[in-house]
Amino acid sequence: MFTKARIRLTILYSLLFLFFFWVFSIGIYYWMNRSIGEGTIVNQVKQQEQQGKNDGEFNDQQAAIVTTAGDIALNQLKIALLVLNGGLLFVIPFGAWVLTEKTLGPLQEIHEQQKQFASDVSHELRTPLSIMKGEIEVALHKTRSLSDYKQTLVSTKEETERLSNLVENLLFLTRAEKGKMQKQFSVVDITDVVGQVISNLHKKAEEKQITMKFTPPENSLVVAGEEYLLRQMIFNIIDNAIKYTNKKGRIAVTISSDKQHAIIKVKDTGLGINKEEQEKIFDRFYRIDASRSGTKGYGLGLSLVKSILDLHKGKIRVTSTIGKGTTFSVFLPLS
Ligand code: ADP
Repeated sequence: MFTKARIRLTILYSLLFLFFFWVFSIGIYYWMNRSIGEGTIVNQVKQQEQQGKNDGEFNDQQAAIVTTAGDIALNQLKIALLVLNGGLLFVIPFGAWVLTEKTLGPLQEIHEQQKQFASDVSHELRTPLSIMKGEIEVALHKTRSLSDYKQTLVSTKEETERLSNLVENLLFLTRAEKGKMQKQFSVVDITDVVGQVISNLHKKAEEKQITMKFTPPENSLVVAGEEYLLRQMIFNIIDNAIKYTNKKGRIAVTISSDKQHAIIKVKDTGLGINKEEQEKIFDRFYRIDASRSGTKGYGLGLSLVKSILDLHKGKIRVTSTIGKGTTFSVFLPLS
């Protein structure tokens, strides 16, 4: 689809440019022809002579020389324009191809991403659905005990929760993307947001006996943003820190600032992420080998974090050492 569009657009751009240059060259040639060609230049010199601007006599011999000089100049111009336009026949298609790449390249990238996204979503939806279908079919195959039915319901509920989590995340992602077009920012106190998230996740950390330490900033720091999106962004980072830190680990959440940003640091003593994967973890549906932590997820959490930060003109940095831990640093412009 894009190859055909590329060829068509290259031809169109080439024809447009060639048309422009040919019209320009023909225009120049005719203008010069009217000015110096076919004896016009002699008439002009004679006119100037009559107006007293030229001294001396202008005889027929001189007129012939001037006419020939005019014709030679015109001929030179014709050759120059022909050579230039001939050269452009080779240069323009190349330029048109580069321009086409610049126009269609980003569109193709978006198209590929959307195709990949649709296929990833379908794949992720199919897995829990087929698990549920299989379990229900087994349960219905013959009469079973009450505890067997209960077991089926429990596992179906788990899969439903996973599904609704996925749908929730996708919805957030779409809302964050939509937010890029219709920003409704208000003033948000970042300490409140982080504090709320920590109290929501405290129990989850306790279950793994993880110590969570929170250091708020000395003064209150406010940013312009959508509070629910900022909360979701911080939730995802701290939730990951809990998920990917072993029992009895430590997590430190610190808020500070530089001249332009509120800086939120989430430091854990967890599994760590190697250098190559530090860039990929922000891609949609990217997960580092799920078996290493035994956690279930869809690889959407950090891509959501990235989308929300893009929306707020923020940045995120990761530093990590395998086996020692990871620090995510979020920079949000102060309002
Ligand atoms: P999910 O957690 O659902 O897999 P995310 O997009 O939130 O998806 O994270 C992508 C991957 O990045 C995770 O699969 C995990 O391997 C890695 N990751 C994220 N946060 C951490 C962390 N604090 N420590 C180690 N690995 C992490």
